Amino acid sequence: MSARHYDVIVLGAGSAGLTAGIYLGRAKLKTLIINEGTVGGQMVLTHAVANYPGVLETGGFQLSQIMKQQARQFGCKIESNVEVTQLDLISKVKQVEIDHDEVYTADAVIIATGGKPRKLGLLSEDQFKGLGISYCATCDGDFYAGKDIIVVGGGNSALEEAVSLTKWVNSVTIIHQFDHFQAHQHAIDEATNHPKISFIMESEITKFLGNDTVEGVSIINKRTGETSVVPTNGVFIYIGYLPNSEKFKGIVDLSEYGEVIVDENMKSNLPGVFAAGDIRKKKYRQITTAVSDGTIAALSTIDYIQNLKNNFV
Ligand SMILES: Cc1cc2nc3c(=O)[nH]c(=O)nc-3n(C[C@H](O)[C@H](O)[C@H](O)COP(=O)(O)OP(=O)(O)OC[C@H]3O[C@@H](n4cnc5c(N)ncnc54)[C@H](O)[C@@H]3O)c2cc1C
Repeated sequence: MSARHYDVIVLGAGSAGLTAGIYLGRAKLKTLIINEGTVGGQMVLTHAVANYPGVLETGGFQLSQIMKQQARQFGCKIESNVEVTQLDLISKVKQVEIDHDEVYTADAVIIATGGKPRKLGLLSEDQFKGLGISYCATCDGDFYAGKDIIVVGGGNSALEEAVSLTKWVNSVTIIHQFDHFQAHQHAIDEATNHPKISFIMESEITKFLGNDTVEGVSIINKRTGETSVVPTNGVFIYIGYLPNSEKFKGIVDLSEYGEVIVDENMKSNLPGVFAAGDIRKKKYRQITTAVSDGTIAALSTIDYIQNLKNNFV
């Protein structure tokens, strides 16, 4: 095993991690970005980003490639498609092991490991991901203009996103497993009073149907056991969100949902450990908000390292 020291290690190369890298690199800090998946994170899943200021419309992959190029241009080293196999974030000198092999150390760590939408867990769900199944109305809603779609879920996100989707679509059918919603009354009122929204309660999707894209779903009524097919052009799933924080449990303070808790300067409870982007406890998760978090986390880290060098920490 070889040990190499960096000023900062950034965990995650999505929009938050790459932005942090750009700022750290420009500040001449020796920075390593370690990413467990493909560089770009969730951006890569978006085929058209139309709400990133300064860019009329671009592919998520293209945007991620430019961010990667910027981070590299300012001197960041990026290790992608590796696995973080061991972590020490508590000691003053932080340590990250990847692939049970390389060990890197750093004075500070930024956690920018993002998250993933919770899935229904059906085999056909993977088959149609991006081909009629979406987890992001803000991102994909306008691709369903004039179409009939389904929203799965009965919490605030499902009901609020169903209402937001009515801007584009012809109709929304909400499929929910219980006979009541787990949402605030105003969200329930808005959805139930909306002329474009109808409901199938106490039911679950058992299979997505279609050839190249989703054309319908098989459902089962959980109370009666009755099965039926609902034709649709697309399905938006809002049954929760899973932060990629398994590796930080018991190390850094997490919310009840597993999000890293930070202050407004992106500082966690551990000295020298910061968090940015979708991984942190917050309400709105977008590329712009991740980029903002990444900027703040990097600036806080630059201060921390400066204080460390001046023996103030
Ligand atoms: C389908 C879809 C479409 C979207 N469309 C839009 C849109 O049009 N506009 C918009 O603003 N937002 C959109 N979003 C939301 C936006 O993509 C996210 O809010 C944003 O990209 C989050 O960035 P992040 O850097 O915080 O996390 P992520 O993008 O999730 O990146 C985190 C990275 O960390 C890696 N990682 C995970 N665990 C570890 C670990 N232990 N160690 C190291 N690396 C790890 C992951 O593999 C990933 O590469 C969309 C989201 C989805 C799912």
